[in-house]
Amino acid sequence: MLSVMKGKVIVMVNDRILALCELSNDLLYDKIPEGKISYYVDSSLAAGRAAAKEYTGMDIKKLYHSNNIQIEYRKESKGSFGVMLRGQVVLGKDESKVELYSSSIESLANNSQIYGSAPISYDLALNIHLAHEFFHFLEYKSNNFVSDQLDSVVIMKIFGFQRLAHIKRCSEIAAHGFAKELLHLQYLPNLYDYAYLINTGKMTEKDLSDMMSRMESILG
Ligand SMILES: [Zn+2]
Repeated sequence: MLSVMKGKVIVMVNDRILALCELSNDLLYDKIPEGKISYYVDSSLAAGRAAAKEYTGMDIKKLYHSNNIQIEYRKESKGSFGVMLRGQVVLGKDESKVELYSSSIESLANNSQIYGSAPISYDLALNIHLAHEFFHFLEYKSNNFVSDQLDSVVIMKIFGFQRLAHIKRCSEIAAHGFAKELLHLQYLPNLYDYAYLINTGKMTEKDLSDMMSRMESILG
């Protein structure tokens, strides 16, 4: 397990911390009561891992084949506005399709080294992406989205009425957890997204260590 030296504080890179990094990107993150942060982190990770148990030892590309999901490889990612676009997903009743931009997957793999660890291969980066999208396919197929299963948060309170909303990022955390479990990864795969940002100069290692250290203290 990676531990990052930050002054004298050692930040452990673990699933819960990386899951909270993901959760903190939710538009409604500030509406989550402090005491419920762990609930969203742990329930989302558990949902992803539980779903992966059913597919233990199975090859992700075979799973695409047996579920009639087409994989389309595209050469260039068109107009990405500084954000790396790895592909698009079309989910349908009869047919589903995942479009991939090979160049983006390759770029992610080539920039995935972090804190002295070796980069992941193109094939692994591809399988991570496929596993992540396969989880969303399962949510779609069963019409059972992790973010909908978990408690809503109150986003507005007026005269005793309240408006509730779901935390969408919980599905993202579950998809990361699913990919990690299915592919026996060492880390929750959003770590590689941060590695990419660091290696392409959009973030520093210190930014990431500081963020993880903040997340660690929130989780207690
Ligand atoms: Zn996703």
